[in-house]
Amino acid sequence: MIGVVSVLSVLSRRPLPIYLTSATQEYMKHRVGYEQRGFFEVDLYFSPPTTADKILKVRSFWNPSVSYSVSLRDQTCDCPDFEFRTDRDRNHISRLCKHLMVKLNEFDAFESSNEWVKLLTGMGTRGPIAAFEIRTEQTKPGLMAVNDKEDWVDFYARTTRKGETSKNASGAFHKYGWAIYQKRWSHGNYPRGGPHYRKILLQIDALDFYEQTTSPSRK
Ligand SMILES: [Zn+2]
Repeated sequence: MIGVVSVLSVLSRRPLPIYLTSATQEYMKHRVGYEQRGFFEVDLYFSPPTTADKILKVRSFWNPSVSYSVSLRDQTCDCPDFEFRTDRDRNHISRLCKHLMVKLNEFDAFESSNEWVKLLTGMGTRGPIAAFEIRTEQTKPGLMAVNDKEDWVDFYARTTRKGETSKNASGAFHKYGWAIYQKRWSHGNYPRGGPHYRKILLQIDALDFYEQTTSPSRK
């Protein structure tokens, strides 16, 4: 299941175009042990049901007069966003543009996946490159999702119902943004238990990406 894996080790062994500069790696060596950082890697692979080579049309979310062709078997799409994902592993959600995400969901491809993959794939967004469960003693676990943005990560945490604290929050998950270099929550919006999550997030030194893998900034 979920092992204790550092951001660094994940980045260095993952065959995805993501790396930390050697200066950053050197710097990180002298910091707190990774296992104490509260980052736990989440397995983002999934096991899709076998399908015939179905080509499905998906309408663009931006322009209804445009539609894209999705292949469930090959996990390909002819949209612009997929061009940046074509070399990524099959059966890993980092490969999925919104269109693949929607269609695979319709075909129950994430049925046997862990709860975090179900959450991410159910949000109707593009697949992140990596994700880490963020654990603190004072909160329910949150999820940090790394996209192809070097200065930004998404953060998912449960909302609280009446009378609940961050420790026993049971509401629906809400998506927040954390700005790595500015060390702040996006738009000042943070989850219940935000200061506790923040202590962990502050330990992210850097996430660097090769420029050619950066998707168009459209969402
Ligand atoms: Zn697509």
